[in-house]
Amino acid sequence: MNAQGTLADLELALRSKRDELSRQISWDLEHSRCEAANSGDLADAAQDEVQSELSSQLVALESRELDQINRALSLIRLGAYGCCEGCGGQIDPVRLDALPNATQCIRCARRSSRRAAAVAVKKWSSNITPHAEESAPRERISLHDLEMEYT
Ligand SMILES: [Zn+2]
Repeated sequence: MNAQGTLADLELALRSKRDELSRQISWDLEHSRCEAANSGDLADAAQDEVQSELSSQLVALESRELDQINRALSLIRLGAYGCCEGCGGQIDPVRLDALPNATQCIRCARRSSRRAAAVAVKKWSSNITPHAEESAPRERISLHDLEMEYT
């Protein structure tokens, strides 16, 4: 395998994916803002609430992916592409083939997705329990996150 060529191709692919994603995110943000501005009566407002919750979850998902792509790109630049962020081990090339922006090996990724799932469940149960104590502040997308690596 020609590692040099492959990495350069990969970097290009990741860059275009990153551009596409950030366009998508700004579109989603713009879109949900317009929907909020156009809300009519109360029933519509409730509907919009659900809609905008959905779009903000979508944006959160997309920006997480964007963040991962950015991290993969910096790893390429550092010459450390394919090293796991979690344990420092080598990421299985088969996994990288399937998921080029993977920055963790399968074991670390499973561990952190279990953690994310636990947080999601906690959030969900605090949503359906009216008097549940306030959970941790909601994850917000900051411009800083979106703009880093934009050099
Ligand atoms: Zn690992």
